[in-house]
Amino acid sequence: MNDNVLKKEFSKKDVQRARNLVTGNTNSRTTEGVGYTKKYEHHVEGDVWEENGRKWTIKNGLKQNITKFDKFKKMGNIPLFCPECNTLMKKELDKKVFPAYQKCFDCIVDYEAQLQKEGKSEEYFNDLRNQHVQSAINGYEEFMKDQIKKSNDSYVTEAGDVESWKGGKSKEELERELQEGIVFLENLKIK
Ligand SMILES: [Zn+2]
Repeated sequence: MNDNVLKKEFSKKDVQRARNLVTGNTNSRTTEGVGYTKKYEHHVEGDVWEENGRKWTIKNGLKQNITKFDKFKKMGNIPLFCPECNTLMKKELDKKVFPAYQKCFDCIVDYEAQLQKEGKSEEYFNDLRNQHVQSAINGYEEFMKDQIKKSNDSYVTEAGDVESWKGGKSKEELERELQEGIVFLENLKIK
């Protein structure tokens, strides 16, 4: 977003705020309905709205279809108790490691110590590393395919400005970058 847009944005808000003070209408949201018509809706980060029968939001400054985030949220569901030792997973670390390991942090530490004792840890850690690399590849691929799909579309920035990818990378460039990226990541795997 350039400075001019930012200034325009602030001045619109300030004018409305001043109006509200004068009219005693201090409760009304100043960001709504100022200078925007219905066909140009102003959306900010985290907003959720419907458009053409689909739900949208703005995340990290990009207009995104919401069903994708619902899916991510479900994936992030963490049970209260560790399925392995049945203790309450109350530590921040438990929540961080659960999605990848399906057990609490203490259980992971015990498991890894056990493997070390049995001399199996190298195999285990190589496998773990490869799993992490693979999930990075999957995430990267999904992200790039998304970028390629919308490389000709416009997107809405955090401030609600519509910008386009014009002058950005072409589909072909992105496709090539994707393939190169996958080869690079694949090489990080331990064979
Ligand atoms: Zn546990």
